[in-house]
Amino acid sequence: MQLLDGKKLSAEIKNEISEEVKKMVLSGKRAPHLAAILVGNDGASQTYVSSKVKSCEEVGYKSTLIRLEKDITEHELLAQINTLNNDDSVDGFIVQLPLPKHIDEEKIILAIAPEKDVDGFHPMNVGRMTLNLPSYISATPKGILEMLNRYHIETEGKHCVVIGRSNIVGLPMSLLMQRRSKPGNCTVTICHSKTNDLAKYTLEADIIIAALGKPQFLTADMVKPGAVVIDVGITRVEDAGRKSGYRLFGDVDFDNVSKKCSYISPVPGGVGLMTVASLLQNTLSAAKEEFYSKNMSFDVGDL
Ligand code: NAP
Repeated sequence: MQLLDGKKLSAEIKNEISEEVKKMVLSGKRAPHLAAILVGNDGASQTYVSSKVKSCEEVGYKSTLIRLEKDITEHELLAQINTLNNDDSVDGFIVQLPLPKHIDEEKIILAIAPEKDVDGFHPMNVGRMTLNLPSYISATPKGILEMLNRYHIETEGKHCVVIGRSNIVGLPMSLLMQRRSKPGNCTVTICHSKTNDLAKYTLEADIIIAALGKPQFLTADMVKPGAVVIDVGITRVEDAGRKSGYRLFGDVDFDNVSKKCSYISPVPGGVGLMTVASLLQNTLSAAKEEFYSKNMSFDVGDL
């Protein structure tokens, strides 16, 4: 079994990015600028945003963290998004999810200018990704593709089972794995909470991507010998014995599945770090206007 080492790969990607940033700055351009909006003070969200901001510093980006109170109105949040959409000094920005219940996430995602949507959640980017057109690809699935690519894992003709169908992980992941692309060209099965006899599918899979958020859900008896196993899940489980007060669990029973598979990503140290690296890559693409020219946003009324 070989470990899919997100720590090593993300460090490699960050090095590549910082070299590019140095060249950009030497040629007289400004460094890329990522802004992040954090609403409220959810512990996990704060940790994720801090790690994104810290990573920006590591590669030489400018970053701006905008903290908003949890009782901010939807209207006020939309106004903040509008400001960032129109700020030429900001290349891309993210709104950390989940948002408080009184705010409509769909409305917020729709308000982000597609050319600054470095999380790749806007329907314009999801649609372009689906059609295999250049676009921002949501950071977690993009990070997994990068992982498969950098470990030279063959995907063509393989059967890939994705567990989970969320808009940010499972659904884009399943679409990406079947694309006419490398990595891609898989035959994909999507499993979810209403799938009957899920093990029947995972036992036939050459590649399993577990993204359901249920600690240690995928056990060794559900995995074919030699399969590639990617663990997306991150669940905090209380652990009074630890300084942080919790322990992180993935969706895979790592100790037992690792004895049976060919490749496996650990939690922590796997997909989570790749997600941050992909966000940095998307921000670089935004600064370079790789997919869209700046300020191309239009009103639905313009159509
Ligand atoms: P989500 O929105 O809650 O979606 C979970 C998906 O799993 C749903 O499609 C659900 O099915 C399915 N599911 C739930 N229980 C299931 C079961 N018993 N059997 C089969 N499918 C089941 O979660 P998410 O945002 O996709 O995140 C999934 C996990 O990945 C979480 O642990 C999250 O923390 C983690 N995550 C990690 C990263 C990273 O950077 N590593 C990034 C994002 C998310 P239904 O559609 O039928 O409800």
